[in-house]
Amino acid sequence: MRCSVQKLHRSVQTRCAALAYTDSVATAQRPSETRLSDYIFPPAGTTSLAIAGESHRFPLRRVFCIGRNYGWTSGGVRGAGAANNAEDTPRDPPVFFMKPADAVVPAVGNIPYPPLTHDFCHEIELVVAIGKDGASIAPEDALAHVWGYAAGLDLTRRDLQAEAKQRGQPWEGAKAFDASAPCSALVPVATTGHPQTGAVWLNVNGQARQRADLADLIWPVKDLISFLSHSVALRAGDLIFTGTPSGVAALVPGDVVTGGVDGVSQFSVTVAGLN
Ligand code: MN
Repeated sequence: MRCSVQKLHRSVQTRCAALAYTDSVATAQRPSETRLSDYIFPPAGTTSLAIAGESHRFPLRRVFCIGRNYGWTSGGVRGAGAANNAEDTPRDPPVFFMKPADAVVPAVGNIPYPPLTHDFCHEIELVVAIGKDGASIAPEDALAHVWGYAAGLDLTRRDLQAEAKQRGQPWEGAKAFDASAPCSALVPVATTGHPQTGAVWLNVNGQARQRADLADLIWPVKDLISFLSHSVALRAGDLIFTGTPSGVAALVPGDVVTGGVDGVSQFSVTVAGLN
């Protein structure tokens, strides 16, 4: 009897702890119930992306970026289907890292040259915008979670990344800086469909630097969504930068960067001078 009372007590304690946790999470996730006067200073507004041809905007939640996802060779550009060559492109599980939502800026006009680097690199990528929550999503169900697509830049302080890799440290310093994710306006799936092929390209001052095809993605979009959703619950408003083809290189102030994903969108930005 005593034993079962203790057991009950333990179970009530556990349950109370669980409820307190659930309650605090729920409170944190219900900003509408918090009055503006409850904050010690005005909260930042929601970061959002333009939608092509519309006045509505896409509110951003989180930015997931996929590491190596195209077959890279030292020589440069590979042809369509080359990624299927298992010999030089082992199909390791994808690696992901994150950028803060407010690193996303419109890919128009000037982009700042960031501090702490002498090797500021471009990475052109297909960007996927998630429009529907989901966890543990099967690949065959994954595309139903896509709201639209865009073309974006995963800008990188390569020297800091090389240093971090060498020391076995995280990549945040190299990847998660201000304005590190310029992105075109989003195009809804209703317009683009789910592109399986199409050039992913980037020119600097009119010279081709990166060019591959979506067919060369080692992990296609449906697999990336499934993979990420088994790690975290994906939420409407999340972006996924899907990885960049070979040809990444440094930018200098004054460079005009033109890039795009054929069938989705394209953009042009200029690297601003050092402050
Ligand atoms: Mn990248």
